[in-house]
Amino acid sequence: MSERIKDFIFSCNNGKPIKYIENNGCWECVSHSVTNSGYIRYHRNNFNYMHRWIFNKIYGYLPEEVMHKCNNKLCINPNHLIGGTHKENLIMAGNDGLLKNPKRKLTNLDVKLIKYWILKKYSLRKIANAFNISYSTISQIHLSKTYKEVI
Ligand SMILES: [Zn+2]
Repeated sequence: MSERIKDFIFSCNNGKPIKYIENNGCWECVSHSVTNSGYIRYHRNNFNYMHRWIFNKIYGYLPEEVMHKCNNKLCINPNHLIGGTHKENLIMAGNDGLLKNPKRKLTNLDVKLIKYWILKKYSLRKIANAFNISYSTISQIHLSKTYKEVI
């Protein structure tokens, strides 16, 4: 595991610098404290959580919920954050599969992450839940029937 501490490029000019450790692609924040709910605390302009602040800063809007594709609450890697509704967050948490959309278009980054997770032997079912796609889509990626070009 890489222990090199990095500065977050979008760190605020007048705030405490944001530092993180890269861990399996996740950027785990090490410069700020963790809330009772397990997220990085960050009180700035009505934001309570760092991942929400970062999402807003990078993507330019703030959705109802900012979710972690990686299921790592300490992670502040913008590529691992996706916006959604409260209901979608529950789905990602694995509580419900009703809104699953088999035709959801995956980005190359999504596919790379999916392949990485498959390699790491995560359950295909869990990966499908995390990306809100069907089990068969994941299975086809697993068998290299789709997204062959993404490595
Ligand atoms: Zn992450």
